[in-house]
Amino acid sequence: MTPIRPFVFPGLRSRVIFGAGSIGQAAAEVERLGRSRALVLSTPNQEADAGALAARLGPLAAASFCEAAMHTPVEVTERALAVFDAAKADCVVALGGGSTIGLGKAIATRTGADQLVIPTTYAGSEMTDILGETAGGEKITRRDPSILPETVIYDVDLTLTLPVAMTVTSGLNALAHAAEALYAVDRNPVISLMSAEAVRALAEALPTVLRDPSDVEARGRAQYGAWLCGIALGGSAMALHHKLCHTLGGSFGTPHAETHAILLPHTVGFNAAAVPGLLAPIADAFGDTAGRGLFGFAQALGAPTRLADLGLSEADLDRAAELATERPYTNPRPFDRQQIRSLLQDAWAGRSPPH
Ligand code: NAD
Repeated sequence: MTPIRPFVFPGLRSRVIFGAGSIGQAAAEVERLGRSRALVLSTPNQEADAGALAARLGPLAAASFCEAAMHTPVEVTERALAVFDAAKADCVVALGGGSTIGLGKAIATRTGADQLVIPTTYAGSEMTDILGETAGGEKITRRDPSILPETVIYDVDLTLTLPVAMTVTSGLNALAHAAEALYAVDRNPVISLMSAEAVRALAEALPTVLRDPSDVEARGRAQYGAWLCGIALGGSAMALHHKLCHTLGGSFGTPHAETHAILLPHTVGFNAAAVPGLLAPIADAFGDTAGRGLFGFAQALGAPTRLADLGLSEADLDRAAELATERPYTNPRPFDRQQIRSLLQDAWAGRSPPH
């Protein structure tokens, strides 16, 4: 009999509406929050969808701001806050991926506004109380209850336009949350169950979505997996994988989802050497060892597999290994700079991980 370790379950704190066409409930959900003047947020790419959403909200939409950008630059937040104030808005409705959701969180934590989030990628930010903001070229990440969105609408129809390449990298980004939750120092049996289910859902759905990006059932299953991964991210301490992605993204400007996609088999493989039992849901879903299985899965999906293709040089790897090992943090397998440098070398060259 496996003993149950002592644990703290943080609870599930957001209201979730899941299903095709559920964007139709946006107005009712704004009203349910007791709000009546929404600032609708998106990126320039999704301005048309934001416009359609504002039209749907009718008088509940006080204004729109469609300039959300990667890594939540504070100067963008300041421009959005000016629009929020001028419109006398009392809530934000964020339609998009992690960039748009980050902007909504940045506004909410400064103003106390409620957030209704309508995610269109698999990044999972909508389920976390984490906000990473950039100012003067530096990214600062913090957690606070005011950052967690109150209500989330998962409408699969909005994911149908997610380009295939982004579907793949965003899906692997989601899997990274589940993987690290499985071996998190503060893991608990509920999030472990959700993470294992998320791995199965994404392992099954992503290849089908790749064959037919308009397959609503497969898209829905991928989105379901991504939701669970978001809960895993919000409810667990992340370790080596997220730390390395943060280092590469923060200090070398590598793109978020691609960086996750490339590093994941290597970080999982590194930890699988120490805790294969905890990573068994990944090995089971992808075959082989967890790291090699994920590498094969990513390759079959046509995901990027080489850090070299993100413009990193081998000298950058030396610096990244140094930065990532400057301060200690929890990870199931202890590591030193040389081991991280060697892991980065494999990821740079696109070699399969050893475990
Ligand atoms: P993104 O939000 O930057 O989106 C990338 C591009 O794809 C944007 O132009 C967007 O408009 C477009 N797009 C999104 N969904 C689309 C769709 N369905 N159809 C067509 N185009 C679409 O990408 P992302 O990977 O979701 O988010 C990355 C950002 O989120 C990073 O800044 C990352 O740090 C942050 N993030 C934060 C957390 C957290 O918990 N705080 C978690 C995950 C990611």
